[in-house]
Amino acid sequence: MSAILVITEYKNGEIRKPSLEVLGEARRAANGSGAKVVALVIGSGIDGSGLGAYGADVVLTADHDALASYNPDFYKTVAVQAVKSQNADVELMAATDMGKDLASRIAAKLDAGLASDCLSLEIGDALTAKRPMYAGKAIATVAVKSAIKIATLRPNMFAVEGPDESKSAAVEALELPELTSKQTVKEVRSSSDAKMDLTEADVIVTGGRGMKDPANFVMLEELADLLGGVSGATRAAVDAGWCPQSDQVGQTGKTVSPNLYFMIGASGSIQHWAGMSNAKCIVAVNKDTAAPIMEKADYSIVGDLFEVVPAMIEEIKKIRG
Ligand SMILES: Cc1cc2nc3c(=O)[nH]c(=O)nc-3n(C[C@H](O)[C@H](O)[C@H](O)COP(=O)(O)OP(=O)(O)OC[C@H]3O[C@@H](n4cnc5c(N)ncnc54)[C@H](O)[C@@H]3O)c2cc1C
Repeated sequence: MSAILVITEYKNGEIRKPSLEVLGEARRAANGSGAKVVALVIGSGIDGSGLGAYGADVVLTADHDALASYNPDFYKTVAVQAVKSQNADVELMAATDMGKDLASRIAAKLDAGLASDCLSLEIGDALTAKRPMYAGKAIATVAVKSAIKIATLRPNMFAVEGPDESKSAAVEALELPELTSKQTVKEVRSSSDAKMDLTEADVIVTGGRGMKDPANFVMLEELADLLGGVSGATRAAVDAGWCPQSDQVGQTGKTVSPNLYFMIGASGSIQHWAGMSNAKCIVAVNKDTAAPIMEKADYSIVGDLFEVVPAMIEEIKKIRG
């Protein structure tokens, strides 16, 4: 292994936490191997110089107005150029919406093997990873043996390394290739700019059909706020128009791995489970002891959510004084 290229992702000028997790994992894999860790920063006017504190040896910047928003063709072209210029044999990025889209394009272009949505990683002669299959029903161990190896890492599964302010990275500008694309990104609309992305949250309070009315989600937001988290939703709650699609967790929603996951008035269907089974601690509140989630949760509270959730909020407020 000569170099690990980490493609970083920024939102509103700030690096996203999943990218820091990937940098940390790249650092751990590179330690003792002699390989360098290169953080690729793609965007317009982004200063990536602080990434040395998070494990990068080199920060490679691709700075251009046309790169301000994600354009799959431009970003792929830039990433391929970066892999070649750094002679990188491993390329890692977070399994975010952008990461999943971009990694497969780069893999196709470089004829590289790709392990997506990895839960753990080891890099030697091969890149060996554990990753979910069949909507999380099975965990496969895969080995990527191509000359260039690519993996996307599931957010919230890997620890951030640092910041260690004593460490800094050399900043280099990537010589940009010609950027051509048949598509133009005209506008990017974010549905939830103010809300933390569910994939990055440590605590998620999800509500389901049992919430009965969109107004009742205020209670879940209050609980989430108190715990420094965000609220989520099942597909039933989204389909009912109570919550935006960006809040949906599950097979056709987001895949999350928080430390603490509340399921309030949600049954725990297999499709929902596919998106949150990696939560470290699951707390279910349901009045039906036979709901599937009640067996799977670490803590199951049997009761009416309209009594249990206000009591939890009150208790947390008391403890916090
Ligand atoms: C192809 C496909 C993809 C899908 N993708 C997703 C997905 O990404 N995400 C997803 O979530 N679903 C998905 N679904 C839908 C999934 O099958 C379920 O229909 C859905 O998850 C159920 O949502 P729910 O748990 O909110 O509702 P329900 O299953 O109706 O559960 C409601 C729960 O609330 C409890 N409850 C009711 N009132 C109270 C109360 N007062 N106090 C306490 N508990 C109460 C009930 O006992 C019940 O267990 C998908 C389905 C298909 C076919």
